[in-house]
Amino acid sequence: MYNKINKYKREIIMKRKISILGSTGSIGRQALEVIEKLQDKFEIIALSAGSNTDLLNEQIKKFKPKYACASDMNAISGAIPITLNDICSNKENDIILVAVSGKIGLRPTITAINNGIDIALANKETLVMAGDIVMPLAKEKGVKIIPVDSEHCAIHQCIKDIAQVDRLIITASGGPFLHKTVNDMRNATVEQALAHPRWNMGKKITVDSATLMNKGLEVIEAHHLFNMDYDRIKVVVHPQSVVHSAIEYIDGSVIAQLGIPSMHIPIQYAITYPERFEGIKSKSFSFSEVARLDFEEPNWDKFKALNLAYEAGRLGGSATVCLNASNEEAVFEFLDGKIKLFDIINVVEYMMSKHTVIKNPNIDEIFEIDNEIRLKTREKLQKTMV
Ligand code: NDP
Ligand code: MG
Repeated sequence: MYNKINKYKREIIMKRKISILGSTGSIGRQALEVIEKLQDKFEIIALSAGSNTDLLNEQIKKFKPKYACASDMNAISGAIPITLNDICSNKENDIILVAVSGKIGLRPTITAINNGIDIALANKETLVMAGDIVMPLAKEKGVKIIPVDSEHCAIHQCIKDIAQVDRLIITASGGPFLHKTVNDMRNATVEQALAHPRWNMGKKITVDSATLMNKGLEVIEAHHLFNMDYDRIKVVVHPQSVVHSAIEYIDGSVIAQLGIPSMHIPIQYAITYPERFEGIKSKSFSFSEVARLDFEEPNWDKFKALNLAYEAGRLGGSATVCLNASNEEAVFEFLDGKIKLFDIINVVEYMMSKHTVIKNPNIDEIFEIDNEIRLKTREKLQKTMV
């Protein structure tokens, strides 16, 4: 034990070498805030962006990574341009934070695992699309996957021995429509769907939080991360977002993780694990300031996405690829103002009903199915567009 602690201490003193995929996004920017506070603990090897090269170049100037990646490689200034795959093949990295959004995160994550590099995983699509491939591969390669998603990070912090855990209890804030009527939801504008009461996140995940699809994706994520049957993963609505999730042990003891709703905390936990530092913490947690914690059952009729996600998860194989791809395409159309909020869930339900599940798809098959579902979803939505 003593040696183990010393090893980690040494690792931290020597500076942990990190790359961030998606450094210009909501998670990526907050990760850089954490690293700025802990600058004597980290060395940044690479940063990556999509189209926001202005911000990427500012980040390069400030954090001085050796390498960078962007959709337009020619627009990168101050770092050597390399691909996401090359970033993830670079064994200089101790850990890679995967904070890109969407399916783009999957292949680089697999590359990093194959290279024995630990992963701080924010990108939930990686596990929703290919959890059955990613988790066994990580185990085989001895690679740690530390969840950044606040609920899974909470569970990760609570679990001592997974064999003794009876249930995972995932909390959901309920999003902006928690206490609105079905009619309010039917007529919701993009602006209303993006007005999340607790969390400030990227647009896609914010819309998912409004339909509760995000919670559904998190149930699938939890199933893979903690190897837990769907029957033993429960969702409870908790509007204050102070209890980030909990586990119930077989003896009835419930352990929850609490904290102010800030993604800085799970991001910091994931990239410094198993060490902890004061870092970005601004003040102590106060139970009396929180004053009350409410919990309620999710409204399954209003938030059908949750049911669809459990269904897809239980079906397994390519069903979750279908769920994810159809949902993502529909969310983009909603954000473009082309469809209504409920059209998202209706089209996901339709695509699921038409999908023939492939049991153990490999990575290439996963991407083929993903592409096909996206195409069909867009075709179907053309007919619904307002
Ligand atoms: P954002 O949309 O804010 O950021 C996404 C990042 O990915 C940006 O850096 C973006 O680059 C980059 N990116 C997008 N598409 C591509 C592409 N095709 N190629 C390369 N880079 C790309 O998302 P979030 O930070 O909110 O979320 C990131 C991931 O983390 C998602 O999977 C989300 O589900 C998950 N997550 C997020 C949470 C949050 O609080 N935000 C909480 C839990 C999980 P650019 O902007 O330069 O185009
Ligand atoms: Mg979450």
